[in-house]
Amino acid sequence: MKTQSRYQKSLKDPKTGLLKPGSNNKKLGFRITRGKWAGKKLYSLTLEERTTCPESCHHWDDCYGDNMPFAHRYKTANIDLFLEREIASLMQKHKDGIVIRLHVLGDFFSVDYVRFWEEMLLTHPKLALFGYTAREEDKHIGQRIWLINNRFSDRCVIRFSRNKEYASDHLFAADESFQGEHFVCPEQTGKVKSCAACALCWTTQKTVKFLSH
Ligand code: SF4
Repeated sequence: MKTQSRYQKSLKDPKTGLLKPGSNNKKLGFRITRGKWAGKKLYSLTLEERTTCPESCHHWDDCYGDNMPFAHRYKTANIDLFLEREIASLMQKHKDGIVIRLHVLGDFFSVDYVRFWEEMLLTHPKLALFGYTAREEDKHIGQRIWLINNRFSDRCVIRFSRNKEYASDHLFAADESFQGEHFVCPEQTGKVKSCAACALCWTTQKTVKFLSH
């Protein structure tokens, strides 16, 4: 069984440039033009797939990362120190703040790492986070994610990757087999150009459905 990225040469030590502008990724976009975070700039963070993920992930064997040989994946040792510095610098640069998409690949790998993001949200009132996690809602890391989603509900939206409808303040991202109440990601159907022009994931509570990759 695979337990790490197929592309070990693409692993990088965290130094500078960990947060990539959304303009490097056609799907993300850079300047947010819709919704409550309009005006902020979108960045993303990529960690190593599988090493940072729960083995229960439905895409363990057909991970999105298997088709991304050239993506830089950052190693996690001391990543908080480097991220802290970089976020402070981006906050100086973008007066309306930034949004960070967690994680293009990889996942929340520890409770302390979730706490790190909580600390960043506390320190930077113009920082916002959005993304998806394969962590289970009822295990320690998932519970901590739920807590920061609720504590910072206006600035932190991490959806659990599950085929479920919104319930008890839990937000979900489903795969294409899901039949419950949902909307299909409009970027995948060509209705919007990018997340920056869409904003639905951090605006609506309804489950977002992704078509298979
Ligand atoms: S629904 Fe919108 S915000 Fe969510 S992933 Fe699709 S394009 Fe991005």
